[in-house]
Amino acid sequence: MQGLIMDTPLLISSLIEFAARYHADTELVTRTVEGPIHRYSYADANRRAKRLANALAGLGVKPGDRIGTLAWNTYRHFETYYGVSGIGAVLHTINPRLFEDQLAYIVDHAGDSYLFVDLNLFPLVERLIEKTPAVKGVVVMTDANSMPTSERIPNAICYETLIAGQSERYDWPTFDEKTASSLCYTSGTTGHPKGVLYSHRSTILHAYASALPDALNLSAGDSIMPVVPMFHANAWSLPYVATLTGAKLVMPGPKLDGASVYELLESEGVTFTAAVPTVWLMLLAHLRESGLKLATLKRVVIGGSACPRSMMEAFEEEYGVQVRHAWGMTEMSPLGTLNTPKAKHLGESREAYFDRGEKQGRPIYGVDIQIVGDDGAELPWDGKAFGDLRVRGPWIASGYFHLDQSPAHGSDGWFSTGDVCTIDPDGYVRITDRSKDVIKSGGEWISSIDIENIAVGHPGVAEAAVIGVAHPKWDERPLLLVVPKGDAKPTREQILKFLDGKIAKWWLPDDVVFVKELPHTATGKLLKSKLRDDFKDFKLPSA
Ligand code: ADP
Repeated sequence: MQGLIMDTPLLISSLIEFAARYHADTELVTRTVEGPIHRYSYADANRRAKRLANALAGLGVKPGDRIGTLAWNTYRHFETYYGVSGIGAVLHTINPRLFEDQLAYIVDHAGDSYLFVDLNLFPLVERLIEKTPAVKGVVVMTDANSMPTSERIPNAICYETLIAGQSERYDWPTFDEKTASSLCYTSGTTGHPKGVLYSHRSTILHAYASALPDALNLSAGDSIMPVVPMFHANAWSLPYVATLTGAKLVMPGPKLDGASVYELLESEGVTFTAAVPTVWLMLLAHLRESGLKLATLKRVVIGGSACPRSMMEAFEEEYGVQVRHAWGMTEMSPLGTLNTPKAKHLGESREAYFDRGEKQGRPIYGVDIQIVGDDGAELPWDGKAFGDLRVRGPWIASGYFHLDQSPAHGSDGWFSTGDVCTIDPDGYVRITDRSKDVIKSGGEWISSIDIENIAVGHPGVAEAAVIGVAHPKWDERPLLLVVPKGDAKPTREQILKFLDGKIAKWWLPDDVVFVKELPHTATGKLLKSKLRDDFKDFKLPSA
């Protein structure tokens, strides 16, 4: 027997319609690429997204066509999120920080028919265009006055001119909720990037779950600033959760330095923000240098890489801002686990609060997890056993775009994340490594992430990375690479002494090397494959 409930498909266009109808005058504020602050309402955004929908039809864009964007967090990018997906086409957000060859590969592999590009990224597209012959046109997301002239792309289209002549009357079409809505490639540290193809259904379900109190905890009373880019896993779904809840949205544009982020947080009464740890290092440095405080910010979600305890303590103790540690991946839309207390944790000591808070958190409803050993057998949730983390659920990728084989997708319906972790009896996950970064010493695993997180708590350390280096007796031993903070000159002995007592004795790195900088991926993660390569002949003193 079937239920007697309306069969309304879950479509992305319904989010902007909802916001425009019930939160019509709620603001969306942008620091534009051109410079000035731009502000308008969800009603305005919906009208312009509809103009864009009409314009796309005029360009001959059909349902299923891929439209690439190379753009920062701005109101125009927001309009493409709704205009492109709303007509049934696929919004392909591209990370402009990737290498040019990777960018060309991605645009070509996705089969993008048009590229929408921000003014300051147009030179990048001018260099790319020869390598992407299938692209039919380039739309520069600016107004006629700021429109660049270009020999390589003489027929580039101006976004404002494109939508100006269009009607704001448009009925968003209704179609199957499993239709593809957007596409995002994971940067990947090896091999070609792989495309994750989201559906309308997965996007809406994920946005619903994300808004929940134990997830991002958002409401119409919030002012949200996604510092995490809209090209990085849909800005962790914030452009969708904002319309779903009717929260105010503050877009930081291309300026992500501490001073610029701070200025918007304060001037727009931001209550909630989210980004990777690197961004927050810049903000905290700015706050400390200038002696400033955060007046309105209540909560910050930190993920993408492990959030060091020292960062959590700084936000909470010095600035009164609650930190929520989160783990996820592009393949997971991206939220998987978030760290909030259970009822039994209420009243825990500060020490216990940070011990728990350091972990990546518990799964939100919709995400099922397990850890397995080398033999594929499930491991216990005792907070000690390390294993490969596997996930499944209605917003987790079932495969990759135009890729027949995915070794990460098992025939049993689980997706192997490539992360290694422990899970405690309460279901809190602690990510200890990427599986390819695991250090195996005498047959036992050492967590590089744990050591790095403690090392950056030393006042003289700006950044730290731990890699395994070959050792004749132990197979591998940890080597700690340190970027000193400012003018600080910490010594090897000081750093080792600082770690001593905070980790198991046999986890203590065999050596410390000071470096000027560490290599990162396009999404700001440590590129350990490069470090392992650079240090493959390194002789440990103990070897
Ligand atoms: P990309 O490699 O393209 O940046 P993702 O952003 O999808 O791809 O990266 C997902 C990976 O980032 C996870 O598999 C995990 O290794 C790492 N990660 C994400 N959040 C955390 C976290 N809170 N702690 C540790 N690692 C994290």
